[in-house]
Amino acid sequence: MWARGLCNSLEKVRWLQRPMSQFFSGKAVSASLQEFLSARLGFPQPPPMLYRNLPFSQAKQLALQRGEGTEARDPPGALCVDTGVFTGRSPRDRYIERRENSPFADLIDWGEVNQPIEPRVVDDLQKDVAAHMASLPECFVYDGLVSSGPSRLKIRVLTELAWHHAFASNMFIPLGSPAEEAAFGEPDFTVVYASGYRNRRYRAMGLNSDIFIVLGLERRLALIAGTHYAGEMKKSVFTVMNAILPTRGILPLHCAATRSLDDASPNTICFAGLSGTGKSTLSADPQRKLIGDDEHSWDDTAIRNMEGGIYVKVIRLSPEKEPILYEAVRKPHTILENVVLDNRGVVQFDDATKTENTRATCPIQSIPQWETSRQGPPPKAFVFLVCDAFGVLPPVSVLSPIQAAYHFILAYTAKVAGTERGVQKPTATFSTCFGAAFMPFSGQAYATMLCDKLKRHGTRVYLVNTGWAGGSAADGAPRMDLRISRAIIDAISTDRIDTQNLQAPDPIFGLQVPRAVDGVDSRLLNPATFWSDSRAYQRQARQLAELMQAEYARKRYNPQWAAGGPLWSTKAAQVA
Ligand code: ATP
Ligand code: MN
Repeated sequence: MWARGLCNSLEKVRWLQRPMSQFFSGKAVSASLQEFLSARLGFPQPPPMLYRNLPFSQAKQLALQRGEGTEARDPPGALCVDTGVFTGRSPRDRYIERRENSPFADLIDWGEVNQPIEPRVVDDLQKDVAAHMASLPECFVYDGLVSSGPSRLKIRVLTELAWHHAFASNMFIPLGSPAEEAAFGEPDFTVVYASGYRNRRYRAMGLNSDIFIVLGLERRLALIAGTHYAGEMKKSVFTVMNAILPTRGILPLHCAATRSLDDASPNTICFAGLSGTGKSTLSADPQRKLIGDDEHSWDDTAIRNMEGGIYVKVIRLSPEKEPILYEAVRKPHTILENVVLDNRGVVQFDDATKTENTRATCPIQSIPQWETSRQGPPPKAFVFLVCDAFGVLPPVSVLSPIQAAYHFILAYTAKVAGTERGVQKPTATFSTCFGAAFMPFSGQAYATMLCDKLKRHGTRVYLVNTGWAGGSAADGAPRMDLRISRAIIDAISTDRIDTQNLQAPDPIFGLQVPRAVDGVDSRLLNPATFWSDSRAYQRQARQLAELMQAEYARKRYNPQWAAGGPLWSTKAAQVA
């Protein structure tokens, strides 16, 4: 893999010196790309310089020359960039084009998350973005793939920034050979990322601000403008996949996936969970191969990674706790976002001055045990990760099919906001299917597909709490030791959890806990008895149960799955 990259690199260094018309491997390709820009995207003229599929080292070099970032001395050679005002996604500026006569118009769950935008407004924005891109001295074209097999999509990403080009080359799946590059033809979907464009007319257009992320499913085009946060491009493509795949009978999932080392009878485990619950952390497992850390699809025969790279949080990254990820960011091709460097160029992973959400992207090859097929068989186990800051959910429980449906569609986690030192105030958040922000259809659509697949493949479902247990974050208790979460995942993946002989359901959540898990203190398994103050536990657990039921009722989720929720009955449940 690296060797091929090097060959490409040498060839393209020469290409860099040539005028645009000779830049591509053949004139035909170049002409078709120019044609694409003008006929499909409406470029008034092509930019003077277009780079296509630059090897990482070239894109990085250009990014440095153009002043987009700096090179770290440690991790050696990492490209460090700041994303400016936006250090995370901007969900309030994300729109989906609504075309009245399109089949998508009926399928999309329009609302606050999937905000509709009218075609004539998108026409205007497309014109503006095309004019902006065409006016740049240079711009970057990445042609690659998303997913494989029946989920595969050919993707083209046009960016204004060299580091966004490098990001795309890390995160999407590269074409296999120069021949494949030459034969790429028309993409199935295009992203135009005009990071430097600001929409001054946003008020007149009825938009939220001068930045926008617009997904046009029918025109097969996403327009991103104004923000520099590269995650927008990754998650825009994911959202598009989440609209396209169900129409092919394939289930898209916001989850990580690992595969056993043994290839004779391989098995897969998936980890769904909201941001910060541990998908990337727990899927970096020395005992298993990594399929992917964030976006997968589940078709009749396989779980497939949609991506070609990983995008991980690096705040407080340590070699002791997360050796695999720590080593991965030290390999070539790493991009670090919003990290702080000291005056010797050493990255300070503990420094959250710019944001808590410091991130690294690396090609998946930076994980030694990556699964080269990018897929695994249908999963034997599906883990729902939650970070329960109230400290009342057990570290692991085994879900019945109806509980799986309930917890998947509800998708709870907690966020903690630090106040005074050591004291953190938790709030519950819910995000359907563990990724509402990326799900254009109703949660019901994805959850029903998941239930069918779990049943058909006999997949066992576990709820794993990677947050607090035995005390709330509000009491200043530390988060669950990562070693405990790893021991639980280990027990799940090696079938050492006796799912036939579980403890009786607890009276509040109705969750069934294993009698023992290797490497985990048995007292910890039952928060009700582990809390030193049992009254405090009751109060806190009932409060969370009520929040869950209230949310389930408010969203009018499937009443048939309500029985999979907390047993503790409340007014909210009666209203439902
Ligand atoms: P995203 O969807 O934003 O990529 P993610 O689910 O991949 O989120 P991670 O990047 O794995 O989440 O973040 C989990 C964070 O919580 C890491 O910084 C990890 O070190 C920390 N952490 C602390 N304790 C645990 C634990 N017990 N299990 C998992 N992660 C833990
Ligand atoms: Mn992740």
